[in-house]
Amino acid sequence: MKNFIQLLPKAELHLHLEGSVQPHTAVKLIKRNHPENSRLSAEDIQKLYRFSNLAEFIRGMRRVSGNICFLKDLHEITQELLTDMVRQNVRYVEFDCAVQKYLDLGYSLADIIDSIYSAAAEFMPMVEARLIVNLLRDHGPEKALKLTDKVLNLGHPFVVGIGLSGDENRYPPEDFYQAFQLANDALLHRTAHAGEVVGPESVWNALNILGAERIDHGTTSINDDKLVDYLVTNHIPLTQCLTSNVKLSVVKDYFQHPFGIFYKRGVLVTLNTDDPQVFGVTLTDEYLVAADVFQLGPGDLSQIVMNTVLAAFVNDHEKIKLEERFRQEHANVFQSCGYEFLNTVKKATLEKKRFV
Ligand SMILES: [Zn+2]
Repeated sequence: MKNFIQLLPKAELHLHLEGSVQPHTAVKLIKRNHPENSRLSAEDIQKLYRFSNLAEFIRGMRRVSGNICFLKDLHEITQELLTDMVRQNVRYVEFDCAVQKYLDLGYSLADIIDSIYSAAAEFMPMVEARLIVNLLRDHGPEKALKLTDKVLNLGHPFVVGIGLSGDENRYPPEDFYQAFQLANDALLHRTAHAGEVVGPESVWNALNILGAERIDHGTTSINDDKLVDYLVTNHIPLTQCLTSNVKLSVVKDYFQHPFGIFYKRGVLVTLNTDDPQVFGVTLTDEYLVAADVFQLGPGDLSQIVMNTVLAAFVNDHEKIKLEERFRQEHANVFQSCGYEFLNTVKKATLEKKRFV
């Protein structure tokens, strides 16, 4: 099974660029940008990546991401991330970037996006990558609105959507209504972290008030039967991150994670890493854990990859092309590993309609 999962072409939708910086790269960035801290070793960074609560996690993340200061840093960490995607046979990825941080350093949005896009372009079509502009809750609703407006004015095709992340307790989804309404009116895709540390009401608000098309995490949806039914009926994808939820104590352990129940009830669940370097996890690991804990076979894992394609922020034409590529490549991997490939996975549906 391990070999099969490694070989299986995969896709990912919930991945933060700043959470994918490898310890040795963090050390390089510190030496280059903050030489006064250059005594920090890769082992020290790894210690920062070990935490027992959310506050320590945020502190560790900030110590590392605070060293991403120049456009060439963004370019290099994007190259590093996508090199890792190639190694894991990830063919499609949507990752996000906390763009506001770099705007605050004085760079233009066009230059920030270009530094990331130029790195991503080196990997296409091996890995098809798209960017989501991350609206950090603690930057507040006003900055989120201005940034969304800038994204729309730039109109770069590499940027497929906006995403909301950060402290769900202090900044509920409804505070960001205006930014999401603006994106919605312009048909820019929208995703939001919700139902990670706050209950199902946060997911309902992200759907009903923000018009989010996807929910990042959505783990606490399990506590509301009506919500689970709604997610199934309306094909709302959840970008689930098993290890992240365990390490941040959203659930007690993998066995308590509702992923298996969501999958069996027909929720469009996907598997993702969130902050792979911080949580010490790869997408391949996440599939291995899911197969083991939730007793999933090759056909289920293939379906979860196809769910990811279904949930991607691409137009119908691109989605059908992606789907064909994955279907064909999956059939080959099934054959080479001695599994029967049943062509029963759900087909891509039409692109999501505008929220009204
Ligand atoms: Zn996340």
